[in-house]
Amino acid sequence: MAPCKEKIIQTIQLIPEMKNWSDQNRLAGRSVALVPTMGYFHEGHLALMREAKRHGDRVVTSIFVNPIQFGPKEDFNAYPRDFDRDLAMARSAGVDIVFAPSSADMYPEGVDTRIRQELLPAHLCGLSRPGHFTGVLTVVAKLFHIVNPHAAVFGQKDWQQLAIIRKMTADLNFDINIIGLPTVREQDGLAMSSRNARLDPRLREAALSLYRSLKAAGQKVRNGETDAAAVIRAAEKQIAQYPENRIDYIRICHPDTLDDIADIDAPSLMAVAVFVGRVRLIDNALLRPGNRSAGAAGPGAGLDH
Ligand code: AMP
Repeated sequence: MAPCKEKIIQTIQLIPEMKNWSDQNRLAGRSVALVPTMGYFHEGHLALMREAKRHGDRVVTSIFVNPIQFGPKEDFNAYPRDFDRDLAMARSAGVDIVFAPSSADMYPEGVDTRIRQELLPAHLCGLSRPGHFTGVLTVVAKLFHIVNPHAAVFGQKDWQQLAIIRKMTADLNFDINIIGLPTVREQDGLAMSSRNARLDPRLREAALSLYRSLKAAGQKVRNGETDAAAVIRAAEKQIAQYPENRIDYIRICHPDTLDDIADIDAPSLMAVAVFVGRVRLIDNALLRPGNRSAGAAGPGAGLDH
């Protein structure tokens, strides 16, 4: 039998072992890049992993479905999981280590100390999911301490999360380069998400309206509309076409502060959250003001990522 030349991917489950691996690599002068995830990988995750390779000599991906960022009525149990499939996909993306700690190891005595941020979580998903970002920040801070990376890569699909993590990194003096990557989409525009696996064909169709709503909004803004309320109405119209959809929020806000914007006179973030059946999906795009004379706008005009 020919020797296997395929890259070996190592799985680490224990926290001391992960710390030790990281120390060894740092001592050897190698940089480490981390991609934190909850698993059930798709192309979006793989894009983050490939990007991580550009920022570290070694890449660690963590897989941990973090119980403390789910509300009591949320989908912690229904969240899709497939560890073997994830391992194969991570290997194909060139990941060196999959760090997959248990909940018992991450929270051996429950959770007492938490990281809470004030301003950015007071918007968007922070309003619909109380405590969510505290759970996210707490686990990300723990992962930062355990893996001790030089860089960490996150997706702009979770725009608010990325902003909140950047802020925590600055506030708590983590010496980590935070990198944000544009949203990876299916061919028809649906933002990739592990939760898409929970959509049957009818819901999958309804879910596409999130992207369509962003497109409609982008087009309107490109055509010169500056009234955020009017743009939001155009987006709502797309989503309301499907009885399976229930809008959680649609907002247009400042991309950095997340404060609501009434007049779109600069690039602004449109963020949407919709329950498609029982599956809560989010998406966002930057709306770039244009003017009517800009004329023929191609697909995606006025719409970033
Ligand atoms: P998750 O496993 O859903 O917690 O996501 C792990 C990381 O992947 C987060 O930084 C997400 O923002 C990112 N991510 C999720 N979906 C996408 C996507 N479609 N494109 C790019 N990044 C994504």
